[in-house]
Amino acid sequence: MELLKASLIRQFVFCPRIFYFYNFCDITPKYPKHVDFGNEFHVIQDELFKSRTFAKFGLSEYKAYKNQYLEDDELCGVCDMLFVGENEVVVLEFKHSDNLNLSNGAKMQLLAYAKMASKTYAKPCVRMILCSSNHLKHKVFKVFPDDFARLNKIIKDMKNLLDNGVFPNSSASLNACNQCEFFNYCDDRE
Ligand code: SF4
Repeated sequence: MELLKASLIRQFVFCPRIFYFYNFCDITPKYPKHVDFGNEFHVIQDELFKSRTFAKFGLSEYKAYKNQYLEDDELCGVCDMLFVGENEVVVLEFKHSDNLNLSNGAKMQLLAYAKMASKTYAKPCVRMILCSSNHLKHKVFKVFPDDFARLNKIIKDMKNLLDNGVFPNSSASLNACNQCEFFNYCDDRE
């Protein structure tokens, strides 16, 4: 079976219809300007990180990998940063805003990287980092066993949707719909 892209997990959690549109409809969404800014930010951040030692994260002794491709038997994706230590792996994602809140969808995406990295390096992942700004302001999130159970349930739901192809209901709020690139394709949203 084709591997699921970890980046689609965030969208699925935001609204399963987005995942449906990407997989079953020939629609090219028009992204808002801030999405381009996010892509440019990653390029700039990559350059800045070439000369940094990650001491601020307390991970100087760890081997660091940028834009690391990962996969396991059901997922694949590119993790912004991966740190491999003697006894653990740590995943990191950049955020171009100073807001270090981790949405449920973003958390599930990071957990997907944690799951793949853990399997690849045969080491546990018990913490994940969200990093914002050029000053490496960051926040560490603990990983609990229940988190992986939730991720596995989401992966199962995504696979079911791919198998049955049924247009899903959505519990997205009107606020979420108003910022969605597929707003014009959901006739039951106003
Ligand atoms: S407009 Fe709302 S219901 Fe439709 S895909 Fe977007 S978030 Fe989901």
